[in-house]
Formats: sequence, structure tokens, C-alpha cells
Amino acid sequence: MTHRPVIFCDFDGTVTEKDNIVAIMEEFAPDGWQAIVTEILNETISIREGVGNLFSKISSSQKEEIIQFVLTRSKIREGFQEFIHYTKTENIPLYVVSGGIDFFVYPVLEKKLRTDQIICNSSDFSGTHIRITWPHLCDKKCHKDCGCCKPSVIRRLESQFPEHKKIVIGDSITDLQASKLADMVFARDYLIEKCEENRIPYTPFETFFDVIQALKKEEVKS
Ligand code: MG
Ligand code: ZN
Repeated sequence: MTHRPVIFCDFDGTVTEKDNIVAIMEEFAPDGWQAIVTEILNETISIREGVGNLFSKISSSQKEEIIQFVLTRSKIREGFQEFIHYTKTENIPLYVVSGGIDFFVYPVLEKKLRTDQIICNSSDFSGTHIRITWPHLCDKKCHKDCGCCKPSVIRRLESQFPEHKKIVIGDSITDLQASKLADMVFARDYLIEKCEENRIPYTPFETFFDVIQALKKEEVKS
């Protein structure tokens, strides 16, 4: 590559095979959560509002149970460990930027990444029900009320990596705005459709072995 890369990788549906928030709601939330998910997808409410609302239905006392549930149920996409190894040996900065919540994202990535490589929402269990807190709100350039605002995170971090080629890896609508800022996009699932709709060039992937291979090829090209 002419420029060294910096990688911003999504978590739910990208690092893990399935979306953890939906799985948690299916298991722990009282009925009615489906309507909130629909509202988020229809964009009638913002992601921040919707996700905050979803978790507020769940009792704080279920924290440990939810962590165990995610740890046993969530499957890590093939090649992720090797991908981390590759970024380390190549000295490529890697960030997982997630709309997920710290209390289940951190345990899944424990011993894999340093905590400063993980950027996600936070949580407060001091009340009767789970309260999500938002350390990475939208900056002045984003008005979507993302909750964890991926484009804002990229804008904040890119100053630390001037001249780097920004690589975004993701699977869904929540990665679209970040993809618009990227120099190279790895997409799967719904993000593929969104990239095509928005004429954003992308490399499709199924496992992280695909990503490693494509990155190696890029390196040869330059
Ligand atoms: Mg995702
Ligand atoms: Zn935003």
C-alpha cells in the first residue's frame, strides 16, 4: 500500500457471526422489543434512542446472566484470531468500533485486544434497569444520533494516523456512514447492498481469512 493502513472493524455480525443485541433481547427482554427494533430499522427513532430503550426493559440484576449468555452463544467469525495476529506482525493499528455495549463486548474480546482498541457504548447497572451511557456521541458533522457514532470516531482517530489508508470492515446499515469515509471497505451481508446503492467500492468477505488475503494483495500492489 502506498499509505499504511488503519483498520476500523465492526463487532456485531462482523467479529461475531450474529447480532448480540438482538440475541440478548430475544432471551431477556419482555415482549414489545420487536417493535422498537422495527422503529430503529425504519429510522423513525435514532439508534441511540432505540438501543437505550431496549436495554431499559431489562433488569440490572441480569447482568452476569447476559454476559454468560453472550460468551456461550456468540460465535467468533473464522480467521479473527489470525487477523489480529496479522495486524500485530504488520504493525497495523486495529480498532473495533461497536454499537454494542461494554459489558458484553469486552468479555468477548478479552485477551484478544487491548482495551484502548475497543470503542463501544457503556452501561450503568446502579438503577433497577440497565441504563446505557454514550461516551462516543456524534460530533458536529453527524446529526443521526448514532449512539456510538462510527464516523465521529474515525474523524477523531484519523488525526492520530495522518496519511494512513482508512479501512472499514462491516456488515450492516450502521457501517454505511463509516464506509463513506473509508479508502477501502470490506463488506458482507446488508452492507453489500448499501455499498452498491451508494456506489461505494467494496471487497466482499465471509471470513477474516478473506480480509487477510486481500490486504496482502494490496501490499504487493504498492
Ligand atoms: Mg454489525
Ligand atoms: Zn453519528
